[in-house]
Amino acid sequence: MSSPQRITHLIAGSPWEGTAERTSPVYNPATGEQTGALDLASAALVDDVVATAKAAWVAEWQHTSLTRRTQVLFKFRELLNERKEEIAAVITAEHGKVLSDAIGEVTRGLEVAEFACGIPHLLKGGFSENVSTKVDVYSIRQSLGVVAVISPFNFPAMVPLWFVPIAIACGNAVIIKPSEKDPSAVNAVAALWKEAGLPDGILNVVHGDKEAVDALLDNPDVRAVSFVGSTPIAKYVYERGTANGKRVQALGGAKNHMLVLPDADLDLAADAAVNAGFGSAGERCMAISALVAVEPVADPLIEKIKDRMGKLVTGDGTRGTDMGPLVTKAHRDKVASYLDVEDGGAEVLVDGREADFDADGDGFFLAPSLIDKVAPGMPQYDDEIFGPVLSVVRVASYDEGLKLINDSPFGNGTAIFTNDGGAARRFQNEVEVGMVGINVPIPVPMAYFSFGGWKASLFGDSHAHGMEGVHFFTRGKVVTSRWLDPSHGGLNLGFPQNV
Ligand code: NAD
Repeated sequence: MSSPQRITHLIAGSPWEGTAERTSPVYNPATGEQTGALDLASAALVDDVVATAKAAWVAEWQHTSLTRRTQVLFKFRELLNERKEEIAAVITAEHGKVLSDAIGEVTRGLEVAEFACGIPHLLKGGFSENVSTKVDVYSIRQSLGVVAVISPFNFPAMVPLWFVPIAIACGNAVIIKPSEKDPSAVNAVAALWKEAGLPDGILNVVHGDKEAVDALLDNPDVRAVSFVGSTPIAKYVYERGTANGKRVQALGGAKNHMLVLPDADLDLAADAAVNAGFGSAGERCMAISALVAVEPVADPLIEKIKDRMGKLVTGDGTRGTDMGPLVTKAHRDKVASYLDVEDGGAEVLVDGREADFDADGDGFFLAPSLIDKVAPGMPQYDDEIFGPVLSVVRVASYDEGLKLINDSPFGNGTAIFTNDGGAARRFQNEVEVGMVGINVPIPVPMAYFSFGGWKASLFGDSHAHGMEGVHFFTRGKVVTSRWLDPSHGGLNLGFPQNV
């Protein structure tokens, strides 16, 4: 067994040369081996990095032309596209998701970089000529300064890419604080920004835990925070950041329902439930975890799902398997504990603890699992399990299914499966969820739309990327100008009126 590699911060384009007071282990979840030792930043180091980022923004980037910024973005987009597979391998080695899924994650992140390449058009302001005699008015959007991105473990490359290309395109300096569970993908992508010609200091990576996050939330020079993670931490980050006067968007946890009506194509629905329930081992904020079957559809649908589950191979994500391990041993054990159901309640139909795994070593595996007759009030329903456990909730009608979904505290994603256009249209109108799929199980919006949930799945008003992202990372300013030709206004203390 080789000794763990040191993983450290990237500040102003270079690896940090100091000695960390605290480190955190990083594992290969497919083997259980510790592969890395991550430096955790102190609050003082975070403050230094904020000062570095601010200096780079003041000196250069806020004044850098749109043409030059766009050249860097196009170059970054090309490099990311070329190195997609390299980055995917880094993700799989620390997160565990299978390589094809990791490539998919990078590709979806790449789409945000492509969107950000259009920044000259996206930042075009409005102009009204002669609003009053010889007076013109125009609106412009300007960068904020230093912004922070704090990301979760489950999309170590894509989630930072939801924010970073747009923040940089808008002229800000960025500090990313990745998850301490799989930190290397962010370092690998940050190296591409440097290669693309981004000036040093405009993108910095600070690794750490609560101490680093709190320092970012408290530093007055951090103007905005984009956070993605679990609901309790999202709420905390939102409250502390906004109390300190920052603009904050904090995307939280999820419990996504898939409503299957009796007229649905059951083969399509079964494929979708399996793909969306077990892809990335259920560690997706858009994973389906509650399958809401409108009777009499549950029994035939469950048969089709079990049939498909039997064909899935769980194992090391580098070996062409269908599903990889969970991210840590502690998380695997917690997810597995949901399979201990109380007598007389839910019924475990497929127990992923009993499967064989295609892997060497002592990885953190749990195969796809299926629980029937799950209902509100049970932890299997109420908790965000965030693992490969699909729960079936049986309901009598569309209305009962809709009520269940709308009563959930979460509102990230949902899907309806039906061949009835009227029912689908009612659902899109009535459901209290931010992202809705119609016969599409994982309705992740394209980069030029915005991503975000409702209720406890998002704290703040702005969703990620799309125009909401551009607005989040800029401040609007309106200029009213009069060029004398020559004329003189004279004294008038009254409120300005247009003539
Ligand atoms: P997490 O909340 O544990 O961690 C997210 C980030 O917060 C990490 O960078 C972590 O270091 C930091 N953090 C953790 N504890 C903290 C504390 N006490 N104080 C300050 N910072 C702290 O989330 P996770 O386990 O890494 O990710 C999984 C969660 O993220 C799930 O709940 C999932 O639904 C959610 N998620 C949501 C979305 C979305 O778009 N809504 C997308 C991806 C993931």
